[in-house]
Amino acid sequence: TAPLLSLDNVTRTYMSRKGLFGTPVGVQAVAGVSLEVRAGETLGIVGESGSGKSTMGRMALGLEAPDTGRVALGGALMPALGTADWRALRKRAQMVFQDPLGALDRRVPVARQIAEPLEIHGIGSPTEREDRVRQALELTGLSEDHGRRFPHELSGGQRQRVVIARALITDPELLVCDEPVSALDVSIQAQVVNLLIDLQAERGLGMIFISHDLRVVRQISQRVAVMYLGHIVEEGTAEEVLRDPQHPYTQALVSAAPTPGAQRRQRVILTGEPPNPAARPTGCAFHPRCPVAQDRCRWETPALSQIGPGRSAACHLITDTPSAGMAAE
Ligand code: SF4
Ligand code: MG
Repeated sequence: TAPLLSLDNVTRTYMSRKGLFGTPVGVQAVAGVSLEVRAGETLGIVGESGSGKSTMGRMALGLEAPDTGRVALGGALMPALGTADWRALRKRAQMVFQDPLGALDRRVPVARQIAEPLEIHGIGSPTEREDRVRQALELTGLSEDHGRRFPHELSGGQRQRVVIARALITDPELLVCDEPVSALDVSIQAQVVNLLIDLQAERGLGMIFISHDLRVVRQISQRVAVMYLGHIVEEGTAEEVLRDPQHPYTQALVSAAPTPGAQRRQRVILTGEPPNPAARPTGCAFHPRCPVAQDRCRWETPALSQIGPGRSAACHLITDTPSAGMAAE
């Protein structure tokens, strides 16, 4: 079956006034990434801040257009931002952000806000909308009484449930969650993650789960893509990638925060500057921090290549023999 979502070799560059004398410079946030999400599947996207994860999420929803490459939902090309087709698509693809308070209007009772997408898209009669809001509250573990309250009268976890209820009210096929639990207390995180897992399975949603928290990603995702400075450096099943990471960057992430079942290996400590898209190193962008970097890594960019069934990585040490590297020149 065709994937629900596909991103094909997308790039995205921002203009930033960070040059000398405030001159605008192009900062490449996403540098030629391809990925797919199938219905009923959760893809975790992990990486430090500045890796391009959030930009990927926004492009997946058509909230940002790629400079080059293509994004398709359900086999159809993503319509241009702001067009009627694009507004119609908002029913099918929704986002859950990190900060529920920022995503909600403080002056409006939350039930009203959950109903908003139905009103925007002209779905249902007022009575039908009420029924759907009631169901959405119940689905996310909230009561009608919660629905009558204002955002500040709810806890952080309850607010995130409201945001999830609102995202699901139009019955979308795709949900993009950008760090949806990182603003919550650890004790509340598990509840919201379990809620997302249940909803995803029940509704056969395709989901992108963006996070820097490997434990949560391991729990919720079937597949995982690891990003570094706008590139995917490793991809595969969440189980395999997080148990036995192959790329030195993934190895460092996993060794800093081992997930249950991760193979014990020597601790890899990341040194050097965190990734800065405005100062992308040449060659393998990870080379200044890579504990096993070689000379060639400074000028040869490794391609993301298949290293096993459904598994790929971008590292000269894994994918290339010296002769293959020369053939690619
Ligand atoms: Fe490290 Fe080189 Fe592999 Fe990049 S290509 S991860 S620098 S060994
Ligand atoms: Mg982000």
